[in-house]
Amino acid sequence: MRIIVAKRAGFCFGVKRAVNIAFDMASRKEKVCTLGPIIHNPQVVESLKQNGVNYIDEPTMEDGTIIIRTHGIPVDQYKRIEKMGLEIVDATCPFVKKAQQYAKLLSTEGYQVILLGDRDHPEVKSIMSFAGNDVVVVKDGEIPLNIRTKVGIVVQTTQPVDALRRLLSEIIEKTKELKIYNTICNSTALRLKETFEISGSVNLMLVVGGKNSANTSQLANLCRSNGVNTRHIETASEIQTDWFHNVESVGVTAGASTPDWIIEEIKAKIDVIASSNAA
Ligand code: SF4
Repeated sequence: MRIIVAKRAGFCFGVKRAVNIAFDMASRKEKVCTLGPIIHNPQVVESLKQNGVNYIDEPTMEDGTIIIRTHGIPVDQYKRIEKMGLEIVDATCPFVKKAQQYAKLLSTEGYQVILLGDRDHPEVKSIMSFAGNDVVVVKDGEIPLNIRTKVGIVVQTTQPVDALRRLLSEIIEKTKELKIYNTICNSTALRLKETFEISGSVNLMLVVGGKNSANTSQLANLCRSNGVNTRHIETASEIQTDWFHNVESVGVTAGASTPDWIIEEIKAKIDVIASSNAA
């Protein structure tokens, strides 16, 4: 059986950095917690818990060191935590930080800031807080209203580039001065592209990642839309031998919050099934 593991499976740069920071803090500090689960992967969250790092929704005076996850947090919340005297370890992804800084710059330069993204997403809430009062959040496909003559655009890092194209075609005739910071991170787009290509050449796709992870579900849906038999799993223990009946090639991809050790375990289990099928 041919096994193809996507080169871009698993942690992206920002997630790897944040998880390393969290484990490093676990070994150096007595009381550490993350503000929200560090990533959408129950196994990593559990492993951090075993190392003494729990997650909280709102900090209290007893919380010691607070780790901020890749999405960042709103400016007000950051100041509140600082005021409480708690130590902050900021693991905001540098690409998200860039989007925050561009939002601030546009606002300082007098632009009406249009932020393309999902308004309920923590990253969007954090970027929005840097954009002053004159900010409009627009979801993909929405038509922005009350556009001023001087408009600046920033984008949630995980938006597809087509969403930005659609927004630009809506705005272009409604304003006189337009400044765009394309803050889309290409990690997601490249992972989707590679997954699509692999899924077109195999009989079975295993998509690995938290069941609550939006980017992993997106990968699984993409594979299904490509017509391949697809299983979304979190760990190797979910793999069933009968999935591989008459399967000549299997592809493995994983969401941005899946650690390498889980991907390795999955590959090892497929190897065992492949050898027993060959025997
Ligand atoms: S997807 Fe991109 S922006 Fe988001 S955490 Fe990963 S590297 Fe950073």
